[in-house]
Amino acid sequence: MPRRRSARSAATAARRVDLGTPQRSLERRLIRIFLGAEDYLQGIHGAVRAICEQQRWSRGICWCVDEVSGTLTVLTRWPTRDSNGTGTPPTPAGAVAPAWLGEEPVWIGALAADELNAPGSPGLPDSNAWRPAAPGFVLPIRSASRLLAFIAFEGGIEGAAARRVAGVCNALRAAGPIIGLYLHQALAAEHMRDSAQRLASTLSLAAVGIAHVDDSGRFLYANPRLCQMLGYSEAELLRLTVKQISYPDDVDVTDGMRDKLRRGDIDSFKMEKRYLRKDGSPIWVALTVAVRRDSAGRRLYDVSIVEDVSARKLAEEQVQYLATHDGLTNLPNRAMLVQLLALATESAKRRGSRLAVLFIDLDRFKIINDSLGHDAGDVLLREMAVRFRECLRSSDIVARFGGDEFVVVLQDVSGQAQVSTVARHMLSVAMRPLEINRQECRVTASIGICLHPDTGQDDQAVLKNADLAMYVAKEEGKNNYQFYSPSLRARGAGRLAIETHLRQALDRKEFSLHYQAKVNIETDAITGVEALLRWNNVALGTVSPAQFIPVAEETGLIIPIGRWVLRTACEQSAQWLRAGLPAIRMCVNLSMRQLQDDGLIADIAAALEDHGVRPELLELELTESTIMHNAERAVRVLREIKALGVRLAIDDFGTGYSSLAQLKRLPIDTLKVDRSFIREIPREAEDRAITEAIIAMGKTLSLTIVAEGVETPQQKAFLRQHACDEMQGYYFSTPIPPDEFAELLRRSAAR
Ligand code: C2E
Ligand code: MG
Ligand code: MG
Repeated sequence: MPRRRSARSAATAARRVDLGTPQRSLERRLIRIFLGAEDYLQGIHGAVRAICEQQRWSRGICWCVDEVSGTLTVLTRWPTRDSNGTGTPPTPAGAVAPAWLGEEPVWIGALAADELNAPGSPGLPDSNAWRPAAPGFVLPIRSASRLLAFIAFEGGIEGAAARRVAGVCNALRAAGPIIGLYLHQALAAEHMRDSAQRLASTLSLAAVGIAHVDDSGRFLYANPRLCQMLGYSEAELLRLTVKQISYPDDVDVTDGMRDKLRRGDIDSFKMEKRYLRKDGSPIWVALTVAVRRDSAGRRLYDVSIVEDVSARKLAEEQVQYLATHDGLTNLPNRAMLVQLLALATESAKRRGSRLAVLFIDLDRFKIINDSLGHDAGDVLLREMAVRFRECLRSSDIVARFGGDEFVVVLQDVSGQAQVSTVARHMLSVAMRPLEINRQECRVTASIGICLHPDTGQDDQAVLKNADLAMYVAKEEGKNNYQFYSPSLRARGAGRLAIETHLRQALDRKEFSLHYQAKVNIETDAITGVEALLRWNNVALGTVSPAQFIPVAEETGLIIPIGRWVLRTACEQSAQWLRAGLPAIRMCVNLSMRQLQDDGLIADIAAALEDHGVRPELLELELTESTIMHNAERAVRVLREIKALGVRLAIDDFGTGYSSLAQLKRLPIDTLKVDRSFIREIPREAEDRAITEAIIAMGKTLSLTIVAEGVETPQQKAFLRQHACDEMQGYYFSTPIPPDEFAELLRRSAAR
């Protein structure tokens, strides 16, 4: 109640001055007015009015002094309206100048004109000077030597006579300090109220959370923003401690800092931490805590400024996540894998345990991506990521290494047997059909495996060796896994070296063809032969087709190379016929790039014609996926080939798309069952079933069925039992040079 206090102090001040009766009654009246005033304006107005009434002044005006600008503004006046009816208060100007410096009431009526504009009255305008309409007093209102206001009284008492009225002057003189004290305290209280209100509205409007927290961590105050941030009402927050709303992991750090504050080691600190909202969700904040002390230096409470930085944190986390994860599959990316693998090998070393790295590459992914589109490729990769993740333990690492490559790290493995089981399982989950663009597709994978510390000493070696072993798995006909062993090393030539040397291979006559027989499964008679490309380079040695054919396809080199194969095979065919050997089918592989080549039909026709080969003795092998790529065009080109009288075969059947409907539209003669199915016969029931199904399906379409990669009598027996027509494989003959093949053919014909 600052107003009451100021009135009471004013009364005390008055008691100190011994006044005569008129003064006493004025002074008592002023105090009553001040005590009853609603606010200081009303109080001052009442005072001006009371003095006017008691001393019979016709007018009283109070100006307030603005110390900063040195200007005066009207605080109040009596009567409220001028006699002329205007409400515009007069400008005080020079008339108050004599009173500016002193403490005494100054009589105005008798002042000379130059005194009215006296110097030493700062900031007073000299035009529009207030001149009393009638003589009167100007009373300076001071408090503790500070000039607060002037009150001018005029027009009540007649001229010079009034000046001599000592009682009037004395009463005014006594009223000055009382009014001064009242005004001073009222203004101070007003100022306090004002700044408290300003502070309160600042706190409540603040965009940051602000709290006062006591020594024990209990909230003493929380602004609306903080409440909103945390989802608590202020009342709820005031019942809680900082610890109770802190994220458990962050409690210790916060406690540590607050302890330092408590001990006085520091006066403030900043940190980023998490709070828990009322709904239990965490929120990241930037926290600044500073101690608030009393004048004696005792700690009153801590002021906390809390800024919501969850958006920034989220962005940071996202950046971190994106930097370490693959956006498509959400698996750790290559960079992350490298880190994880380093940790895993380190921990394996420490614990003396063993880990396995599986390097997985999807077979023919590039073809699917090119033929069905990148979106389809994305769907496939995502699906594979999910399948791999699901078929492994949660402690195993699955990462996307790039393109269609995945890397799996199995920790604490016992040995090859256990890893083989996992690899087999992964191959089988990869092979499960999936639907893309309402088409049923199927992919296979090739897996290279390296065990640490057995065949990979450190994280880098184990990864590199697994990669190398993967190439060997590709070479071995895809859809299989291979363990790395030092002897494999010689087989992996770098892709760049291959490309460089491949460009000159034709000119340097580094290619040759080997021939592998196809035999009737019932009679063992040679019915056909497949021409298989061989490359022997001085620098690289013998490079396997699994390694260089993809490079030739990517670079387009397959077009001239394929043309060479076609011509050489036809030439060979003619040569054997001339040598008196029986006529057999010459089978030549065609790649997708060749199918897209506009010169293909002309090339085939020329190869046949130039060497006088009957078209029905040539069979072109295309993989399923080659045909499904741009199926419309493929069907057209295949029809044109067919029109030449040349036979067509689908190679590696079962590993691409198994779309029977599309197969029906194709003008094909032969189906070659992929050797990955034959390999596990008769051990794997699933492979047996697939092979059986392919044979049955092919029969319905009146196709010749050839089984690839037949290596054992058991496989042959199984195929025979299921009425497969022909077989090709090491069991009968490996691919051999032309002379050897001629010999084989001669012997077979003699039988
Ligand atoms: P492909 O057309 O499926 O050829 C059969 C592959 O299986 C040959 O591998 C052959 O050596 C191998 N093979 C045959 N019998 C067995 C067996 O009993 N066991 C095992 N493990 N493998 C057997 P190669 O010669 O390494 O050729 C690999 C692939 O390279 C071929 O697969 C074919 O897609 C491609 N290729 C070879 N020559 C040419 C060519 O002149 N042009 C094109 N475009 N591609 C070619
Ligand atoms: Mg082939
Ligand atoms: Mg094949």
